Formats: sequence, C-alpha cells, structure tokens
Amino acid sequence: MVDEQADRSVGELSEGEILRRILDRLGDSDALVGPGDDAAVLAAADRRVVATVDTLVHGPDFRLAWSTGFDLGYKAAAVNLADIAAMGATPTALLVALAMPDSTRMSFVTALADGLRAACDELAPGCAVEGGDLTVSDTLTVAVTALGALAGRAPVLRSGARAGDVVAVAGSLGRAGRGLRVLFERFTDAEGRPSPIDERLLTPEERDDLAAQLRPAPPVALGPVAADSGATAMMDVSDGLVLDASRLAEASGVTLSIESASLGADPASALTGGEDHALLATFPSEQALPQGFRRIGSVHRRGEHGVLVDGRPHAGRPGWDPYRDWDERTG
Ligand SMILES: [Mg+2]
Repeated sequence: MVDEQADRSVGELSEGEILRRILDRLGDSDALVGPGDDAAVLAAADRRVVATVDTLVHGPDFRLAWSTGFDLGYKAAAVNLADIAAMGATPTALLVALAMPDSTRMSFVTALADGLRAACDELAPGCAVEGGDLTVSDTLTVAVTALGALAGRAPVLRSGARAGDVVAVAGSLGRAGRGLRVLFERFTDAEGRPSPIDERLLTPEERDDLAAQLRPAPPVALGPVAADSGATAMMDVSDGLVLDASRLAEASGVTLSIESASLGADPASALTGGEDHALLATFPSEQALPQGFRRIGSVHRRGEHGVLVDGRPHAGRPGWDPYRDWDERTG
C-alpha cells in the first residue's frame, strides 16, 4: 500500500491526521482506556506505580544525520524501559510527547512510532504507548514517560548495597560508547558536523557497536528477575560504569570494588562508555546470581573512594559525553 502522505511534512497535515497515522502503528492497547481520549486510564494492580521520564533533544542527545526515525523511537523507549527495570519493575505503559519542526516528514514520524512499538514488543512485551502529545518546535524533541508495576515486590533502590555483597551486571558494557566514538571519529565532516553513516566503511563489530549506540537493547526483563533474586541495590548504567557505580556507592554508603578482568576484551570502554543501559546490581554473596547476571566485583565498607578498579581509584574521566563536549567545542 502506497502512503501518499508519507512524503508530506507534518506542517501540511492536521494534528488529527498525524495522530491517526501514529496510532495506526502502535497496535492494540490493553489499557482500561487507551489512546484517543483526553487521558488514558491504566490499572494499578498493587496500588503503586513506578514512573520515570527521559527527554531526547536534537543536538545534545542525538543527531538526525546518524539516527533514523526508527532508531530515535527505539532509543527513546529503551532508555525509559531500562529505568523502570532498574527499580525491579515491569514496564506497563509509555506516554510520548513529540515536539518537531513543521518540515518533519510524515515518514519520519511513522518510523519513530514503529521504533517505539518495536522497543516495547522486543524489550517489554505487554507495554505499549498509551498516550502522548504533539507540538511544533524548531528543535526535534522526544520526551517519554514510562510507567511500571512492581507486582507486590519491594522496589530495588540504589541505597541498599551492603559490605560483603557481590557486584554484578546484566547486558552489554562499552559497546554503545564504542559506537559513539565511531560516529564522532568517522562520520563527521571537516567542520566536525555529523555526516551520514556509510555502512560499507564498517566492520561487523563496528556495526554492532553502532547498533548498540543507536538502538540500545537493555535487559529489561531481568530487572524484576534481579528483584525476585534478592538484589540489594540496582540501577541502569547510562553514563558509564565507573560514574554510575560511584552513584550507587554514594547512595549506599559503601565502596564498590570492580575487577577489570571480568569486563571482557575491552575493559576501558566497559568502564567509561555510557548508554548501553546494562543493569548494575548488588546481591548477597551467599546465593547464586540469577541467570543473565555476571559478577564484576564486590562491595566493601566505605573507604576513601566510592569505586575502586583492581584495588585503585579509577584514573581519568569516569564517563564520556561527546555530544555535550562536542557542543562546547563547536558552539
Ligand atoms: Mg537510570
């Protein structure tokens, strides 16, 4: 079926027409009241709702030269699903606010809706977009609110790690950071502006790293699994392992000792590369780790430093944020 509207800009269509096209892509809702009314109505089975919001802004958070509409929708959903999972909860619904320039192609918007839906279907089956808002802005912005259910569990906070616990992660560490490095080092023009990705210039490993950066796939289902297995603290790794581990250590009043030999072939990227949205958790040492988690260190009484790598404080920057660094350089 040819969609003769796909090449039109959103400025040429009414809000109702745009909405209808988005809703067509999102599939069936099992909310009590789904999209289309003034607000959605969702069931809250155990009288608690886990809620989070994260905004992706063109410039500091993504570049259209590198991200397709599908990529952007997928990532906007995935980063929020990871935050719900990191509380030990199961995502139940997303609310999406989209601000976009008048000139945005309708095909981009429908691809974004497809990306939102694909992330829900693949990472958090049962979760769907249940509402949202559309508006016009010079800067393309996607703000996603995610809601989740604890199903009777206690939420897993950052503050529960205790000396003697094991430090573990689920999901990849460092790949998204390597992907970002590839983008900034290889796909920018002479002025340092993002230029289109030429897949032919990439090795299979680099392609995987780029996919991890542009469409991260956090282990959302393992958040509730960790909670059920007695995780004492948990968070998702968004800004780099050392930086995020230091936040968990601070909240818990402990020191996390990380063993770089447990971090795979590229420990440097694993320690500081952000945006994989792996789950970082601590577990009591006397029990087996749940499937999907691997041990990377241990928890100790609070010392001078919140995080030690191979027994030493980590030298250099704990994380890397080239989008923001890049904006500072180029204005
Ligand atoms: Mg988080």
